[in-house]
Amino acid sequence: MAADETDSLLVVVFDTNPVWWGQKLLGENELVLSQCINDILAFANSHLMFSHKNSLAIIAAHTNRSYFLFPKQESPPKTTISQVENGDDTSTQAPSKGKYELFCRMNDTVAEELHNMVLDSSQREVYTDSLVAGALSMALCYIHRKEKEHGLRSGHSSRILVVRGSEDNPSQYMNLMNVVFTAQKQDVLIDACILDNESGLLQQACDITGGIYLKIPQVSGLLQYLLWAYLPDADTRKMLALPPRVQVDYRAACFCHRNLIDIGYVCSVCLSIFCTFSPICSTCQTTFKILGPPKFMKKKTKKPNS
Ligand SMILES: [Zn+2]
Ligand SMILES: [Zn+2]
Repeated sequence: MAADETDSLLVVVFDTNPVWWGQKLLGENELVLSQCINDILAFANSHLMFSHKNSLAIIAAHTNRSYFLFPKQESPPKTTISQVENGDDTSTQAPSKGKYELFCRMNDTVAEELHNMVLDSSQREVYTDSLVAGALSMALCYIHRKEKEHGLRSGHSSRILVVRGSEDNPSQYMNLMNVVFTAQKQDVLIDACILDNESGLLQQACDITGGIYLKIPQVSGLLQYLLWAYLPDADTRKMLALPPRVQVDYRAACFCHRNLIDIGYVCSVCLSIFCTFSPICSTCQTTFKILGPPKFMKKKTKKPNS
């Protein structure tokens, strides 16, 4: 199988928006954060099990910041990270009973970091959207660093999976699009697994980078969707019958109010998009001439020959 020869770096961006998760907890839908994390961890373990060369990172997209859940980012000793990721770390802690040590340590790290993050951000303001664009750029930087450290090998692939429930924030449009086009250039797939609110921005991200966008119909089956649709890498996916591509909502956000618009005005110099006409482009300060009604030309009358 192709997966034996290739190595794949997967970065999972997980939406931990407290407002959205709080609503889910109160509603009749029995979706619980801990269950969702367990599913993602089982998926992450499966990814590492697929090939001993596979590596992984998990980033939480929170309401006010993005946070590395795994690997630990606070002044990590460099060797430990690569050893842990490669799965050949020799034991420094007592292994738990009957558990594969690497997975056990990863799961513990994620739980611990998540706990730290929640405690740390409990005093701050919360919003209904998550910083997905920021988390994605962290993921891209991480991928870039790893590829630089190990050198670009043939058969290496990197991808990002976004697991998200909260709603889109059009104010992230610019940052997100910058990240998406960078990912496209770096050959990084962006997949999106949507738990609740359809996301036009992530639809565009997946379509541009060639990833899978799927709003899962049943959240209780999250792990199954993750394993079926998102575990195979790009080469293996060609051989599978995956969910059909969605109709992509290609609306752009205007630069003036950050609203998603169907029809707007585009600056002919810098290609900024505006929902209303303004004589001066606020991005590049170009002044546009306002064309008045056409003047009526005087009819040339031939002078009569005298
Ligand atoms: Zn506007
Ligand atoms: Zn302009």
